Amino acid sequence: MGNQPLIVLSEDSQRTSGKDAQSMNITAGKAVSQSVRTTLGPKGMDKMLVGSSGNVVVTNDGVTILKEMDIDHPAANMIVEVAETQEDEVGDGTTSAVVVSGELLKRAEELLEQDIHATTLAQGYRQAAEEATDALEEIAIDVDETDTDILHQIAATAMTGKGAENAKELLADLVVNAVQAVADDDDIDTDNVQIEKVVGGSVENSELVEGVIIGKERVSENMPYFVEDANVALVDDALEVKETEIDAEVNVTDPDQLQEFLDQEEEQLKEMVDQLVDVGADAVFVNGAIDDMAQHYLAEEGILGVRRVKASDMGRLTRSTGARPVSTLDDLSEDHLGFAGSVAQKDVGGDQRIFVEDVEDAKAVTLILRGGTEHVIDEIDRAIEDSLGVVRTTLEDGKVLAGGGAPEVDLALSLRDYADSVGGREQLAVEAFADALEIIPRTLAENAGLDPIDSLVELRSEHDAGETAAGLDAYTGDVIDMEAEGVYEPLRVKTQAIESATEAAVMLLRIDDVIAAGDLKGGQVDNDDDDAGGPPAGGPGGAPGGMGGGMGGMGGGMGGMM
Ligand code: ADP
Ligand code: MG
Repeated sequence: MGNQPLIVLSEDSQRTSGKDAQSMNITAGKAVSQSVRTTLGPKGMDKMLVGSSGNVVVTNDGVTILKEMDIDHPAANMIVEVAETQEDEVGDGTTSAVVVSGELLKRAEELLEQDIHATTLAQGYRQAAEEATDALEEIAIDVDETDTDILHQIAATAMTGKGAENAKELLADLVVNAVQAVADDDDIDTDNVQIEKVVGGSVENSELVEGVIIGKERVSENMPYFVEDANVALVDDALEVKETEIDAEVNVTDPDQLQEFLDQEEEQLKEMVDQLVDVGADAVFVNGAIDDMAQHYLAEEGILGVRRVKASDMGRLTRSTGARPVSTLDDLSEDHLGFAGSVAQKDVGGDQRIFVEDVEDAKAVTLILRGGTEHVIDEIDRAIEDSLGVVRTTLEDGKVLAGGGAPEVDLALSLRDYADSVGGREQLAVEAFADALEIIPRTLAENAGLDPIDSLVELRSEHDAGETAAGLDAYTGDVIDMEAEGVYEPLRVKTQAIESATEAAVMLLRIDDVIAAGDLKGGQVDNDDDDAGGPPAGGPGGAPGGMGGGMGGMGGGMGGMM
């Protein structure tokens, strides 16, 4: 905890200009990247993050660390955004992206000190990034969507060094099967892979259910526990007698009348259930409530009913069973029914859930993740999310690269060649970019307790000799062929990381003035007291409100400086 980058948490200045602004931003960016560096790779360490309310997260996942860290500095946050974009676009490579952007800033700092202009640097970095993306496409390997072996290896690589590592062979199989199941040609939404976390048992007991699990029980004890070969109806409504919209008053003058009134309601509920029976439904999932009387009739007919099913679950049921939801039972016909070989209430880790499985074409599946404790499962879940992301990306793009630092070393070599053709001062920026990429193999070596220089020298000579897939085996320290080892990552993990890392670094480098609204000062503490109005040291123009206050602060700041 001692080396927490305090500077990124709070910043006193109101206005910082010129070299000071640059160096402040670079320092903040480097600090962010430094904070996740030790987690990179198969031998990376984990971090324990304790939130303000005492909640604890133990993780190896770059973007999770940065999100939990409550980072306050605006420049630091731009680096955090790099991780977030990476997470959204590919789901993996968040640490790498942040580490590269920190290193780009560090190398830039050295060049700035040699009086190379920031704009020249920015231009050189952009050119280098573009060249790098092209070079990566050239060394990428084509993967066919039916090549399950490579998909499995990609899924496993994303879990290496994480909590899921022990069971990564099994989990990689589950992930590949899950993504293949939910894929509609090239359109893959991994949200259709539902993850159910169950505390108890070991990771090895995790399984894939080809269907949907609803976190509910059947609505009445008298209904069957299990329906085989079930016709499934989905109702986006309640099975109740609607209350009239208008406030109606019913005057009952004798007991018979009351009975008649109640009988009438019962009759309506019976009719609803009959509508389900008529089309041949065996199980019904209802978005709203199910009246007691309707429950009774459903149970009598042997229909399994579930009430208050969430809209997201309805969506999954639609995808997996092929049923189409109706907004009122009057619309229900046989065409709306879906099918599941089994609808059953089962016990999972002490909770009762409804399993809808053995469907014909499971376009929505459920991964039951088991683990010893909640923290363990949460971390496995994060690794699984990364893994789902890389398999999805590979199926979408069909291109992968060898891992273990191989692409970065290869890029560094080709960028140094390219730099000669660039000439001028930009050449120095391109060379700096090449050096910066080597932070990945260097960090992989460092985290594995190896000598980064030795490793890098060996890697470079292999790549010089044309071994494009030569990478670092973090376990033995040897330089090996990563393709043969089966360490693969999607091409997009690398191209996206380079693009966002470059954009963020360039954006920060081009800033020569930071003008902060009043509440940046001590922002961590004052975050919520909007009523503070202008900046604490407010200048004469300390108008209320964000921007006005900020400008006032700026005036005050400048006055102070002169
Ligand atoms: P990120 O958040 O960037 O994905 P990781 O901690 O997952 O960070 O580390 C990813 C790096 O580890 C990549 O460079 C990848 O190639 C490398 N890597 C993964 N598995 C292996 C392995 N078995 N041997 C060597 N390097 C590996
Ligand atoms: Mg990863």
